[in-house]
Amino acid sequence: MNKSKKRLETLVLHGGYEPEATTGATTPTIFQSTSFAYKTAEALESVFAGREVGYIYSRIGNPTVTLLERRVYALEEGLGAVACASGMSAITATILALAGSGDEILSGNSIFGGTYSLFQQTLSRYGITVRFVESTDIDAYRKNVTPRTKAIFVETIGNPKLDVPDIEAISMVAREHGIVLVVDNTVTTPILFKPKIYGANIVIHSASKFINGHGNTIGGIILDCGTFDWNNSRYQHLQNMYKSFGEMTFLAYVRSQICRDLGLCLSPFNAFLLATGIETLALRMERHCSNALYLAKKLKKHPKICELRYPGLEDHPNHIVATRQFHGRYGGLLTLTLENREQCFRFINGLELIQNLANLGDAKTLVIHPASTFCRDLSEEQRRAVGVTESLVRLSIGIEHPDDILEDIENSLTKL
Ligand SMILES: *Cc1c(COP(=O)(O)O)cnc(C)c1O
Repeated sequence: MNKSKKRLETLVLHGGYEPEATTGATTPTIFQSTSFAYKTAEALESVFAGREVGYIYSRIGNPTVTLLERRVYALEEGLGAVACASGMSAITATILALAGSGDEILSGNSIFGGTYSLFQQTLSRYGITVRFVESTDIDAYRKNVTPRTKAIFVETIGNPKLDVPDIEAISMVAREHGIVLVVDNTVTTPILFKPKIYGANIVIHSASKFINGHGNTIGGIILDCGTFDWNNSRYQHLQNMYKSFGEMTFLAYVRSQICRDLGLCLSPFNAFLLATGIETLALRMERHCSNALYLAKKLKKHPKICELRYPGLEDHPNHIVATRQFHGRYGGLLTLTLENREQCFRFINGLELIQNLANLGDAKTLVIHPASTFCRDLSEEQRRAVGVTESLVRLSIGIEHPDDILEDIENSLTKL
């Protein structure tokens, strides 16, 4: 059976796995083993030398983790993938594989708070400067490229601003200068959007969110789309590796240098949970999107809501780009602006079904007040960039019956 010809809804279930040879088990085996034994010293030497393919030590690779990597890169039509302990470690590994002290990263400003902090606070201490530009302003990317720029970084839907950059237009800027375009596809997933088709080179996921779908583990994935020629003098540090690895250069460097040295590995048990969670991704995404659109339309004119933001509504500033990129589906995130912080807290406290917690992409509907939680460390200017005010509430719409979600929201709004 040629699985590569199968559609996404099928690949999430069958991609990257055959029933296990000795027992026929239909769910993946959890290879809960640190190391892998070889019969002879010569055989182990061959694997260390790269002459033979094989597992050595689970910090570098593990068969259960490989299954998850295969499943995700089948969906993204990538060249290969490296799974990491978290979305943040996937982003860290990617940036450290591309840039070093003295280099620059060009990033959209409307990005996940943890990534903002990594870029702004942590990387700067190690000599990597991140220039932030308005995420949807294509000219701003062009104007801020320098000879030291090693990556352009964007998210598909800014969180919690919910702006939608034109990835294809940004990819042209990256291509003009021979710079790697890294796209964080966490909130859209390959079900809504395949960054490769729009010119991305590297795709990142926080697998903790929609890929997992059940809020039971943290994980991250890095994919190489196979669209960047690594034989490129901007990336001097990769040129030695290029001679042996060719198109696999980036992935080899990430796995056998960065992830090996920093210990960013995903555990086999967490890989198992992610590989199982992903099986329902296509079905869940359909429902997240249809529920969110339904709620956005129903609540848009609610007298207690000052502003409702959802890329699926025609008055959203990036609605046209979103429609073109995501083929008429707009994800599970929507935001409400209420009168002030106190009203937001009262709204959250009045919800019964919807859970107040720091996560998104769970099958259950979630709510959070960004300004007092994951954006609390941002400066006033940074908050403006990521679109956060004291009056903003973010909802991650789940897959429950939409009228139950609606009732919970309406009941709480009525009590304000
Ligand atoms: C959550 C998130 C991350 C970080 O992922 P973790 O798995 O929590 O480390 C990165 N990017 C986006 C868009 C996210 O939502």
